[in-house]
Amino acid sequence: MFEVHTFPVPEDAKERALVTKDQYQEWYKKSVEDPEGFWAEQGKRLDWIKPYSKIKNVNFMVPDVSIKWFEDGTLNASVNCIDRHLAKRGDQVAIIWEGDEPTDDAKITYNELADHVGRLSNVMKAQGVKKGDRVCIYMPMIPEAAYAMLACARIGAVHSIVFGGFSPDSLANRIQDSECKMVITADEGVRGGRKIPLKVNTDKALETCPSVTSVVVVKRTGGDIEWVDGRDIWYEEATEAASPDCPPEEMNAEDPLFILYTSGSTGQPKGVLHTTGGYMVYASMTHQYVFDYHDGDIYWCTADVGWVTGHSYIVYGPLANGATTLMFEGVPNYPDSSRFWQVCDKHQVNTFYTAPTAIRALMREGNGPVTSTSRKSLRLLGSVGEPINPEAWMWYHEVVGDKRCPIVDTWWQTETGGILITPLPGATDLKPGSAALPFFGVQPQIVDNEGEPLEGATEGNLCITESWPGQMRTVYGDHERFMQTYFSTYKGKYFTGDGCRRDEDGYYWITGRVDDVINVSGHRMGTAEVESALVAHDKVAEAAVVGAPHDIKGQGIYAYVTLNAGVEPTDELKKELVQWVRKEIGPIASPDWLQWSPGLPKTRSGKIMRRILRKIAEDEFGNLGDTSTLADPGVVDDLIDNRQNRT
Ligand code: ATP
Ligand code: MG
Repeated sequence: MFEVHTFPVPEDAKERALVTKDQYQEWYKKSVEDPEGFWAEQGKRLDWIKPYSKIKNVNFMVPDVSIKWFEDGTLNASVNCIDRHLAKRGDQVAIIWEGDEPTDDAKITYNELADHVGRLSNVMKAQGVKKGDRVCIYMPMIPEAAYAMLACARIGAVHSIVFGGFSPDSLANRIQDSECKMVITADEGVRGGRKIPLKVNTDKALETCPSVTSVVVVKRTGGDIEWVDGRDIWYEEATEAASPDCPPEEMNAEDPLFILYTSGSTGQPKGVLHTTGGYMVYASMTHQYVFDYHDGDIYWCTADVGWVTGHSYIVYGPLANGATTLMFEGVPNYPDSSRFWQVCDKHQVNTFYTAPTAIRALMREGNGPVTSTSRKSLRLLGSVGEPINPEAWMWYHEVVGDKRCPIVDTWWQTETGGILITPLPGATDLKPGSAALPFFGVQPQIVDNEGEPLEGATEGNLCITESWPGQMRTVYGDHERFMQTYFSTYKGKYFTGDGCRRDEDGYYWITGRVDDVINVSGHRMGTAEVESALVAHDKVAEAAVVGAPHDIKGQGIYAYVTLNAGVEPTDELKKELVQWVRKEIGPIASPDWLQWSPGLPKTRSGKIMRRILRKIAEDEFGNLGDTSTLADPGVVDDLIDNRQNRT
């Protein structure tokens, strides 16, 4: 086992903290003992048109699963993100936009945001988009993506964002699944100096999407595109001609706000549906407390709006709180791998929130690109998307954060709408690799395979026993799948699909997907621990571990290893790494097969797809299942060619 160092809350984080250690304990206790009282109070953080009198109405029992929060209240999400701030902070910057090229940027105030969103809302209405209609947003990371989300919210349309890196087929599937009426896109996107043919892809997708009657096109590059008269509308022309005043639609708390498909790490993506009231309360509250957000902070989440992190922590959470949120069009290594830190210096970013995949990739390039920048403005760092290996955590803390900045390792899912398990920067001592403690109102439970709750320090399957307002309400158009996926494995509980360990201090450690658990001679092992041991070796950049059939052990450990830039893959190093894991964890964890992998199969959001690696390790690569969410299919061919376990 690794030695676990604990990092106490730094003094200055304590001083400015919205929540202190004692307050965390006290509020958490109240939130679970009296959830109705607790959430009745928290609901007031929003402006309601008609206030709610009912708080929570939830049933986790199949076949009657139903989740409602604040169900008799009405409100509008765009009003909460824009209108209510105008009197006090109309001239404050709402969105800092940093383009793909370092010379390209913009600042949008709350007044300007109101103007843009009002105009686009009117354009959409003129095209016949009504409350309840679905609208697909297929955009680069430009402010218009946020305007589009908020315009949908304003008129009561349900947005479904499809990540701009997805293919025409993936786009078509998602449009068809929710029968979108409109697509909002751009002529082309730009990322890392390369153009992405968004309009071409849209045209291709729409060949099989009869539900779409209009396409709004933002001119991002001015590149050559085809035009369908009567269907396609230029964003710039239409919004210029439209009025900026658009009265907001009065929405019930339980009216849908958006549909979003999960990353597809474990199989076919699910159309996760979130509603208005509970989601907004939860996004706003978690943004405020997890990032200890104060007026005047410059806050940057590097996610894409195509993922849930972009929804809750670039747009809805920060804007509901009247924050300044930074939106980045580019990638971490363009023009060079110092870009993130240059942007931090340029815009004086205080809070920086990214994913382990980005941290590991940058770590591979060494410290130089980081230490050549100041980063003095940084106060808090965050991580989300996968377990962060302690090694990567330490690098993030020491090199990026100069040992000053706390790190919030936030565990959550598209399904949860917001962060569920996380440290709070002014309240929680940190342990590298642990997502720490539950957020207010969140009741995690670790159960064995029969669903029996396990107490104290233990390891098993992670469930949540009580609802929280940000929880998804259904799989769009398939409530049966919703109940099957999340509520049928363990009766009366929300099952996350993740494995988890709880230590003697009550800290939670996500060990990986339950489907990926490896069983070696009767010992169950999460993937995260073995991977972290490999990554802790100074020549290893990234690792993925899966189980493969083994004559004696039942399952053996198959490790895919990516080396640091410039390191030579040799048989000697292979042996050294196997010994290394043996020493770090124990003989039971030593890999039976080790394959050099210049790249690993990842989802477009950067998560390792172990499902595919398992097939290769099992020598069953003929049927890899759904690979449509794979970022770079070429990686897979190389892995197949060099597999170690040929039968
Ligand atoms: P699909 O459900 O389609 O397979 P996905 O699970 O990758 O895709 P997301 O909702 O984007 O889709 O990801 C949520 C998952 O990401 C969690 O269930 C967990 O496995 C992982 N995760 C997110 N944040 C963390 C974290 N801080 N620590 C460990 N794991 C995390
Ligand atoms: Mg998932």
